[in-house]
Amino acid sequence: MSLTDVKHQPTAQRLFQRTLSSGRMSHAYIFHGPDGVGKETFARGVAEVLLCGSACDVSLSAAEAEAVGLAKARVGCGSCADCLGVRGDSHGDLHIVHRYLNRDHPEPEVRKRKALEMGVDVIRHFVIDPVGLKSAHGRAKVFIIREADRITPQAQNALLKTLEEPPGPTYLILLVSAIDRLLETTRSRCQSLRFDSLPTAFVASRLADLAPDVSTDQRAWYAAASEGSLGLALESAEQGLFEINQTIVAGLSLLPQDRSGATLTVWTDSAKAVSDVYKEHDPDMSDTDVTRRGIKTVFRLAATWYADVLRRASGCTTIVNTLHAEAVAKSAGTIGAEAAAEAVNRIAKAGHHLDRNVNVQLCVETLLNDLARLGIEAGAVSR
Ligand SMILES: [Zn+2]
Repeated sequence: MSLTDVKHQPTAQRLFQRTLSSGRMSHAYIFHGPDGVGKETFARGVAEVLLCGSACDVSLSAAEAEAVGLAKARVGCGSCADCLGVRGDSHGDLHIVHRYLNRDHPEPEVRKRKALEMGVDVIRHFVIDPVGLKSAHGRAKVFIIREADRITPQAQNALLKTLEEPPGPTYLILLVSAIDRLLETTRSRCQSLRFDSLPTAFVASRLADLAPDVSTDQRAWYAAASEGSLGLALESAEQGLFEINQTIVAGLSLLPQDRSGATLTVWTDSAKAVSDVYKEHDPDMSDTDVTRRGIKTVFRLAATWYADVLRRASGCTTIVNTLHAEAVAKSAGTIGAEAAAEAVNRIAKAGHHLDRNVNVQLCVETLLNDLARLGIEAGAVSR
């Protein structure tokens, strides 16, 4: 993928194209914004331009040219040994840094650790030391650091001097979802660049290419529920969230009448199914983290449902759960906009509580009780 293959990020594209043509690149960048919107692909595109010996200008499509404000864009040629090396992850001057690199560290102690964060050992061995070495192909060295918010504060401090003045043509790109998770001292040494959510239609069309087995109905839901993140849409498809959402939605539309605690069981089982997929992908993640992420996914689905109810109750017809339009309309009629908005609020608060290590079971039970009560009270008012 070349730099211009990253779509719907006109701000990033404009800034980089102007910087590339002026030849005044900064040494350190922070790319921040939601996961799965093209930050790493863009960073790799930048690496391609910097490492390719025959980078060239290509014409942008009329729509892109208008959005970006430039007619042409600089890209790597895409066919030389350097470009192929970047694309195949085998270029000696492209360093992709991530938390699992501890497994390749020379110290057995570091290798034994769980890959939850990037400590000083990992940052020193895979960033600071190689930054000081000569480049393999003589053009430049590029370091792309994934999940840079997982660099420990001590390791961020160790990295400051490197970010400030790396020797020779060296470029560091830190990828993060939320920039405020980095130390202020790190932020002030980098140029930061925000990446935005993608349009739903674009996510759906990319999903058709990348997950062709997903049915059209499901694709539409995954795209609509993705909050503009192709990465989230793909992850959700892999977790089978479409089916899980059916159960969650069925439970929520009946919640005020649920006396048996069936909803709690549905939520717990659904969260477990999602957690299992997380654990498979990231075996080093702690059990607490895995459980929490599973529950938070269920919270996200529930919040999406109430947001739909809120939209419908406020007269808006664009909803995520289009296959449940009737149930959404019915709930909008019984619980109304105010209670739906309060429900979205309560779910967000419960999510924050989870981040602060409260008892998961208690948090879910309290939330479900709150949601049921909101439904009953609003129902009583509307009658
Ligand atoms: Zn090339």
